[in-house]
Amino acid sequence: MNVELDALNEALKAVSSLRSCVGNFFLSLSQGVRSEHGEDHRETKYILELQDLVAEISSNMRKVEQTCSSIPLPPDGQINLGNTAHLAHETTQDRQALYSELVGSYKWTDKLHEISNITFGFLAQNVMKRSYNSYLNSSGMNAKRRRLTPSCHNVPISSVETVITAIDRQYQDMNMNVYRPHPSNCHNLQIQVSLGRILRAVISFRGMMIEWVKVKAYNEEFQTDNGQLGQLDLWTNSRHHVFRKITENANAAMLHFYSPTLPDLAVRSFMTWLHSFRSLFTDTCRRCGNHLLCAMPPTWRDFRTLEAFHEDCKP
Ligand SMILES: [Zn+2]
Repeated sequence: MNVELDALNEALKAVSSLRSCVGNFFLSLSQGVRSEHGEDHRETKYILELQDLVAEISSNMRKVEQTCSSIPLPPDGQINLGNTAHLAHETTQDRQALYSELVGSYKWTDKLHEISNITFGFLAQNVMKRSYNSYLNSSGMNAKRRRLTPSCHNVPISSVETVITAIDRQYQDMNMNVYRPHPSNCHNLQIQVSLGRILRAVISFRGMMIEWVKVKAYNEEFQTDNGQLGQLDLWTNSRHHVFRKITENANAAMLHFYSPTLPDLAVRSFMTWLHSFRSLFTDTCRRCGNHLLCAMPPTWRDFRTLEAFHEDCKP
């Protein structure tokens, strides 16, 4: 114990003399050539003085290195947890192990912290996350506006109905029926869309936000068996592979068009995209020019240009 303290004392002394000669060196450097250097060869004398000071610094540096190497390392590697190191000097047997356990858990938490930071970085890049905050983070807006809460799921049902009616009027071959599955819930709405004689889709809204889409063939039903009024079957998949594929793509489109700031535009864009399936069985693929590939029509529509592609031909 005493040996350790003596070594520590020596090292501290060495550090303080090193600091003092570095201080002297910079003092002399800042003052430049002074009157005590005389008249003759004053520059040479000044440079000699600086050389002496540098030599003194290097000898002190060596001393610091020597004394530091003689100080014993704290228990269990390089980590020193401040005053808790005294736990290692406990006299009672069962408490002696505490410090090494503490160091172990410290390392573990440190690692956990590091890994969670990396994970957070990865998750922050996830642009598909549909919350207003992540939208603002990804578009780099300032912290003050970040406190705004998402509101598009909170829009009154009447304004959602207005938007849907407008879209319904816009397309002659696309009919929409509005259902309110839970009359007490004023933010939940389902619409059933019939597109020509091609397909039927059911779209579930929370406020102005589309939260679920299911597409089936025109001759498949969405009404539930128990005949409950206003209840649509959101879960059963289509019998046909084509419409199961379109359901998948529709969910991708719903995420693609989602916009927390312009929710009605998102709904309009999605409906325009869905409407492009009116020629599902007559369109040829933009890439290969064929109607069918692996017995499937072009089930992919480009989000921007609405061009038709086969699943394997899409860009
Ligand atoms: Zn193709």
